[in-house]
Amino acid sequence: MSNPWLEYAMPGIRGLRPYEPGKPISELERELGISDIVKLASNENPLGPSPKAMAAAESVLAESALYPDGNAFALKRALAAYHGVEQDQITVGSGSDHILELVARVFLGPGRSSVVSRYAFAIYNIVSQAASSELRVAEANPVDHAMPYGHDLAAMRELVDESTRVVFIANPNNPTGTWVPRRELLAFLDGVSRNTVVLVDEAYFDFVHEPEYPNAAELLPDYPNLVVMRTFSKAFGLAGLRVGYALASRKLTDLINRVRLSFNPNSLAQAAAAAALDDREHLEETVAMTARERARLDAGLRELGLSTIPSVCNFVTADVGRPGRDIFQALLREGVIVRPLDGYGMPTHLRISVGLPEQNDRLLSAMKKVLAR
Ligand SMILES: *Cc1c(COP(=O)(O)O)cnc(C)c1O
Repeated sequence: MSNPWLEYAMPGIRGLRPYEPGKPISELERELGISDIVKLASNENPLGPSPKAMAAAESVLAESALYPDGNAFALKRALAAYHGVEQDQITVGSGSDHILELVARVFLGPGRSSVVSRYAFAIYNIVSQAASSELRVAEANPVDHAMPYGHDLAAMRELVDESTRVVFIANPNNPTGTWVPRRELLAFLDGVSRNTVVLVDEAYFDFVHEPEYPNAAELLPDYPNLVVMRTFSKAFGLAGLRVGYALASRKLTDLINRVRLSFNPNSLAQAAAAAALDDREHLEETVAMTARERARLDAGLRELGLSTIPSVCNFVTADVGRPGRDIFQALLREGVIVRPLDGYGMPTHLRISVGLPEQNDRLLSAMKKVLAR
């Protein structure tokens, strides 16, 4: 479709393709007229939100005529205590996607560059391109590596030069489920200029139990160019409310906050997030269930003859050995939504979120059926 407005758009926008989110259950219901659909496509928490978070959101619902606290005081106070940082080291946003956009708005633009790994989370590319900035993509680990398709930080380091203002590191990464160990992250941080922002996206932090996995928030005192990003969308189960945040040095936080539109996140989201942070029990149950079910899902997929990428997240990425989009379509007709990864340059892979035991069983039997065709 030719669009005459293209020539008037900013250069970066012309080649941009919108992010393809997981297919909503309601959309598939409309298309196929079926119910009882299982969605394992967006790495959401199948146990739902913390009951404490729901109660907190309800308690502020009646105040919805008032603007939210633009400084998110209560949420920032809770986060500051949780992480042992000062409140002026925190930026809150409507999802961590929003934080990525803020960082891009502050640091990226024409004549500047950002560095990502191939197969990294797609929003890094989108915010970089939308800022009309140059995007440099480092080759990922080879398929026979212990963490196939994962970030190769040494290769990323090679692409950093004076024009590079932001490096995006997803640890662990979505859609591969791979992670980088402490020693490699430190070598990277020590190897780049302190004038380049290194953004470490820890969206899946709570799911990881590897002894060598670094908590980047603890490195903040040593690296004034470090931005650590977390979200309430995954383990905390609040994807629909949209809350994410960044931790960084005071001076970096000052800049990121300058471009933030002041009333994000909204009041329900602020209240729910602060309460969710306080519900250790729900988080622990989520993490324990996910670890058990991830192992079972992974084993089940391997039994069907598929190879999987070792994952520390709440999803498993499998190579189905044929066009993943075909299998995705066939699974839709069985009422199961997964995520095809052709848009990531992984045309034979599917990303499958870890669901409840019965949901994973549904996926495994549907997969067995469609693979047999
Ligand atoms: C899901 C995800 C996020 C974004 O989550 P929000 O809902 O915008 O907070 C960020 N990074 C990675 C790697 C993710 O998978």
